[in-house]
Amino acid sequence: MKKEWLIKGDHKKINCGNCGKTQTAISTMDHHSGICPDCNINCIWYYLTNENVAQIIPEFAPNSVKLFIEWCQSELDELEMIELIVELENIGTTKATV
Ligand SMILES: [Zn+2]
Repeated sequence: MKKEWLIKGDHKKINCGNCGKTQTAISTMDHHSGICPDCNINCIWYYLTNENVAQIIPEFAPNSVKLFIEWCQSELDELEMIELIVELENIGTTKATV
């Protein structure tokens, strides 16, 4: 399968971007750097909401994303990280007002 650096799913089901195995217990996983329990690849499980769970695999990610993640991990706590992701989404989706 194609290796993906970003995978989206929900708290009940998300497929690993490296091995493709379905993970079913994301809510119990560490939200910071972790591993896939099946293939042991280093990754981060971002648990935003029950319906919005993401896996990011730095090894496959663009360099800018890798650096961004490293900065977030050293500078922000978990809550600030989630807040930042939500706000970045706003920047990307907010329509022009002029
Ligand atoms: Zn895996």
